[in-house]
Amino acid sequence: MTYQVLARKWRPKTFSDMAGQEHVLQTLIHALDHNRLHHAYLFTGTRGVGKTTIARIFAKCLNCEEGVTSTPCGKCSACLEIAEGRFIDLIEVDAASKTKVEDTRELLENVQYAPSRGRYKVYLIDEVHMLSTHSFNALLKTLEEPPPHIVFLLATTDPHKLPITILSRCLQFSLKNLSPQKIVDYLRSVLIAEQISFEEGALWHLAKGAQGSMRDALTLLDQSISFCAGNVREAEVSELLGTPDQALLVRIIQALKEENAADLLDCASAVAERAFDYFLFLENLLSLLHRLAIAQLVPSGVDNSQGDREQILALARELTAEDIQLFYQIALNGRQDLANAHDPRMAFEMLLLRMLVFAPQAPEETTQSVASDSPDSEKKKTELEITQEPESDPEPEPASEQVAVSTPVVEPVQIVESTPAMMKVAVLTPQSWIALVEELSVAGITGNLLANCVPDAQDESSLSLVLDESQSALFNDEHLRRITQCLSSHFGREMNVTIAIGRLQVESPAQRRQRMKEERVQEAIQNFEKDENVQAIVQHFSAHIQQGSISIANEVKS
Ligand SMILES: [Zn+2]
Repeated sequence: MTYQVLARKWRPKTFSDMAGQEHVLQTLIHALDHNRLHHAYLFTGTRGVGKTTIARIFAKCLNCEEGVTSTPCGKCSACLEIAEGRFIDLIEVDAASKTKVEDTRELLENVQYAPSRGRYKVYLIDEVHMLSTHSFNALLKTLEEPPPHIVFLLATTDPHKLPITILSRCLQFSLKNLSPQKIVDYLRSVLIAEQISFEEGALWHLAKGAQGSMRDALTLLDQSISFCAGNVREAEVSELLGTPDQALLVRIIQALKEENAADLLDCASAVAERAFDYFLFLENLLSLLHRLAIAQLVPSGVDNSQGDREQILALARELTAEDIQLFYQIALNGRQDLANAHDPRMAFEMLLLRMLVFAPQAPEETTQSVASDSPDSEKKKTELEITQEPESDPEPEPASEQVAVSTPVVEPVQIVESTPAMMKVAVLTPQSWIALVEELSVAGITGNLLANCVPDAQDESSLSLVLDESQSALFNDEHLRRITQCLSSHFGREMNVTIAIGRLQVESPAQRRQRMKEERVQEAIQNFEKDENVQAIVQHFSAHIQQGSISIANEVKS
């Protein structure tokens, strides 16, 4: 007996075999049972979520010899022939390979003739968006005046590429990606039926790797079965897929909680030994921290996407909110360090140790080592009480610029009190002022005004700023109060802030932002003009490039 791949063997044969897509099935079943049939259906969704499977079952429902039904018998010759792909009145076309108008013409030539054997002639056109314009026109003509015995089942991963004239003549069903839970449940039932032993954790890895596609999940399961020699184990599946195993991520968090540096380095070794991609590992660590933060604030909001909901909730109870925020912040910044590092392993170890060293400590424990070793640049951010302004911002910077890029971390009070030396105000240079303003991420008009200031004079407890005269129209005492509060909060002491209006002698943070933005646009214009395709178009059509029309989408803060 030849081995049949699971994806084919376990392809659902009836609507009740299907995992997920209940919203679509319910509508189709209702239409079949009440004989309210349409002549064209469009199934949309990403690959492997069941578009053609549903279409083939639907074809059976229409042609089962026992009558139009939502529960085809599966035994009559029509049902069997459809299942085996040899039913004469089910015409399947993969548009990805048939895009020429002649092919579609040939295909639609026989539309007017009655079905040879079945009740309906069913055209199943997969990846219908790949048809050429001419082919669409030929199809549209048939859809406009469909013969009564014809049903079109169209499937596509990209409905936006379909002409509106086609879309408007179809009943559209949007198929969802399958949840990890649905995939795990299905894989489990397959393995039990196939009598193959497995570890539950392995199934969650496969579900994650499949990214919502049941077909991909079954293909990955097939690979895992041969890779694991019949017993599907988590460690081997994790190795096969190159995904970090959850146990190792949890162990890192536990080592941090227990301040166990030795175990932390052991974890780093394990990451190196298993040759995980450090970026991918860091992404997974960030995702775990994100879920832990949610678990603390909204326990019901924790998803079970990796089958570990209970474990996440338990771990969240053992950590402080400050710990999680700080670890997240360090991991996020660590991505940049990894990108710049010659030795990613070293950078990764440093990143883990940084989490350990800078973790806020419990009040009864000594804070000496933490405090005295903390360079100013690593000083944790203090939560700002500045909120978004109700009035609209005069400079229509993109909305994303208003959002604080980094998550503020609440600094535990005891560190501030026990180490006044750490809080010594470093002399602000134009560069460090720019960095400070970016770090403070103050929103709204106040933030805009702050970004248009440069430092003039300072001492331990006071700071004089100069505000660019061209940007001073909206400045008032309330903004001064907020800026003072924000800087006092940052320096951990009451600061006396004064702001004079004048002409700037050095570049302000706002000017720098503007300059960098312009530089990026210039670079984009140069790249655009250098582009071979653009040059070809210019030459071919004697075209002109309107430089002002070139802009950068999704401006992000550098
Ligand atoms: Zn049948």
